[in-house]
Amino acid sequence: MTIWPVEVRRDHAARLLRVRWQDGHESDYEYDVLRGYCPCAMCQGHNAGPLRYQPPPRPVTAHTVSQVGNYALGIAWSDGHWTGIYRFDLLRRLCPCDECRTARSQAGERGVGKDG
Ligand SMILES: [Zn+2]
Ligand SMILES: [Zn+2]
Repeated sequence: MTIWPVEVRRDHAARLLRVRWQDGHESDYEYDVLRGYCPCAMCQGHNAGPLRYQPPPRPVTAHTVSQVGNYALGIAWSDGHWTGIYRFDLLRRLCPCDECRTARSQAGERGVGKDG
């Protein structure tokens, strides 16, 4: 089951994408980190395996955030890159809050898997 975001806000001052989820959880994603995890084929190549983190050479800003179908957010970045489609389940797994980080390390998960 996929948890949906009920609110997505760009906070340019803090350079964060703030997402509030259906279950009340809130996630603050740094623009640069989110850009570094861009899941598109151009950034990730076509190899299966864990999502690679490639930090952008220069700080980026989220220009536009739009919903894609009922499963993802499409983000257009200030560096002109716009092909990243961030599935809700991926975003949720990238949540940087302490609670999620602790849960991930307890599960022994290294990196973030890429499905389908
Ligand atoms: Zn990309
Ligand atoms: Zn979290």
